[in-house]
Amino acid sequence: MKVLTRSRRVRSALKSVLGRMTDVDRRALESVVVRVFCETAWSVYGLAGSINESAGELRPLYPDLNFNDLECRGQIRFRLHLCRMYSDGALRGVVAHEFAHAVRASRRRKGTLADWFKAVMADRRYWHEERQADALAASWGFAREIRSMRNEHRKVIGPFVLAHEPEIRRRMVRRWEWDERRAAEIFSVSSSGDGTSVSLP
Ligand SMILES: [Zn+2]
Repeated sequence: MKVLTRSRRVRSALKSVLGRMTDVDRRALESVVVRVFCETAWSVYGLAGSINESAGELRPLYPDLNFNDLECRGQIRFRLHLCRMYSDGALRGVVAHEFAHAVRASRRRKGTLADWFKAVMADRRYWHEERQADALAASWGFAREIRSMRNEHRKVIGPFVLAHEPEIRRRMVRRWEWDERRAAEIFSVSSSGDGTSVSLP
């Protein structure tokens, strides 16, 4: 499992959770998660474009664009701007919760890891999986941290996003515009003419 973040708080939370897991569970985690990385930009999800309030997420990772289910592995993304709002204890809860998803994925009885992701991302299974991941993390000794994570999500993250939503959305739009300008520069998209001529560098 490659840790691709320099964030000291995230690295220290990862270390402390790994230190309290059993060898068997650590190996199970490593069999699923290829890399752990951080993101700093706000994002939205779903058709309604709700602002993503998850500080951590276990997501599928494919080696290439063939999306072969047999080659599917996992990766954990942490959102630094949300991690920063959690106390150290709650952040350990976030890490333990994501690790618990991965261990549960490795214990699946049938199908590929890709099948597991598809089933869990379906609405009906999602909340069940959330509860089970919390329970497994609690069994590793993180019950207090999981409670802090849930409490702080309700009392800190939710209200923050609600109070700052227009500003967060403006910031996302500025970022998309910047990305677009950057892409136009890189690919020298001609705005004159029919707008379809693109010259690759
Ligand atoms: Zn979860």
